[in-house]
Amino acid sequence: MPLLRPALVPIALAALTLVACGGGAQGVQGEVDAGEDAGTDAGTDAGSGNTGDAGPCPTDPPPDALGDAVVTPGESNRYLLKGRVATPDSLFEPGQVLVVNDKIACVGVDCSSDANAAGATIIDTKGVIFPGLVDAHNHTQYDYLPPYTPTPPMLFQNRGQWAARSDYSAWTASVNDNEGTYVCEQVKYGELRALMGGTTTIEGSYNIALKCFRTLVHNAEYGNELGTSKMRTNIPGVDSVTSDYATTLRNGMLDGSITAYVIHLAEGVDAKSKNEFATLVSKGLLLPPTVIIHGTALTQTEFAQMAQAGAKLIWSPDSNLILYGATTDVRTAMAAGVSVSIAPDWTLSGSGTVLAELKVARQVSCTQWDGLLDAKTLVKMATSNPADALALGQYIGRIQPGLLADLLVIADRGQETYRTLVEARPQDVRLVMIAGNLRYGDSALIAATGRAPCDALQMCGVEKRICVADSTDATDKLNEGLIQIVQAVSGFYTNPYRFDLCP
Ligand SMILES: [Zn+2]
Repeated sequence: MPLLRPALVPIALAALTLVACGGGAQGVQGEVDAGEDAGTDAGTDAGSGNTGDAGPCPTDPPPDALGDAVVTPGESNRYLLKGRVATPDSLFEPGQVLVVNDKIACVGVDCSSDANAAGATIIDTKGVIFPGLVDAHNHTQYDYLPPYTPTPPMLFQNRGQWAARSDYSAWTASVNDNEGTYVCEQVKYGELRALMGGTTTIEGSYNIALKCFRTLVHNAEYGNELGTSKMRTNIPGVDSVTSDYATTLRNGMLDGSITAYVIHLAEGVDAKSKNEFATLVSKGLLLPPTVIIHGTALTQTEFAQMAQAGAKLIWSPDSNLILYGATTDVRTAMAAGVSVSIAPDWTLSGSGTVLAELKVARQVSCTQWDGLLDAKTLVKMATSNPADALALGQYIGRIQPGLLADLLVIADRGQETYRTLVEARPQDVRLVMIAGNLRYGDSALIAATGRAPCDALQMCGVEKRICVADSTDATDKLNEGLIQIVQAVSGFYTNPYRFDLCP
């Protein structure tokens, strides 16, 4: 099938554009309907009254944004956000979200009468408010690298084939060569890319206790506000698991001390890849906490076993298509009852962000599965599904009182609510908040809230600000902002993969 972008062809690189900030802007009110839609499927929901509701495979181009956000300054530890809200199970149109410190205090049609709303900074977003996106599988440290291009260009049968190649080793050499000095900047560069794409939690960061990458985007494995980690991750694959360690893992999953076991499995299209599933089963590791990354070689038989066990699937269609020319049979997996989440994998073969990966997922759905995945399903595959798969649903993945205030606001373009996220372009990311902390958004909006220190940049023609540094303390490089991070990576790698991958 055709790919969304040319496979195995490097994308031209350019230096990040850093610009001065513009002034504030006033906008017009977006036209939205009142009332709550308690979970109807977006692709066929005719009740929203918004334009662009054309089923799961619309072809009309997205319209322009209806207007800019308007800020009424108030206290910096509480925010009242107004707009359309997708929790994502329910809709409030219009709706409000009240944030107090790092948590969500209220969501509904009206939170302004909540006692905690007094004195809050009010942001009339003129946007659609979603949970922050949850990237359930990535290799964050590698995400300054451009797409890997074997010579000559080719497709593979399994992951071992490209991983063993000398041109792959050369492509990735700068990671190991420089991590001793620059691991903070390597990982933070990947986190900045994720953040600009609306991701607030990411799996697959570096496993050492440096605070430098535990303070920006949540690292799923390593705590932060996500509680004591009960995750285990296996990147090498199931053959690397000794019988003793398999026993330890199995016991941990059975007694609750391990709540998510995230493992690369069956990545490829050959029998070798498929046989990894039988090995997983033989080692006693197909259990409810098991989260299979890829599963590209699996069929109905294995998906039925996964569903029976309660195991989950992480799907990276762009990476699969680029490396193998085929992707996981998600239609069969879902029919069997397997929970599926979307994750971009990494920049070497996948999309730059979850936001971009949603477009690939929809294209696969529309070209191969008759539009199986409507917009609401896709939104859940990037929010609540991965949060639950990683056993972090008590912290993230939904807009719900008591959960962390991880929020993503997309500019309202008058489209059906869920479709607003699926079709959002990089420049449409209006605001990203992590644990109540404004991290990224439209320049005038961030400026009006008084959030500092922040760095200015242009994202596909729209002025943005990103707020990285939380401290003047140089320990673990907590004082670094966007400019310092980009300069550090550029010092050991010429032209790191640009953030602004504009359609
Ligand atoms: Zn991976």
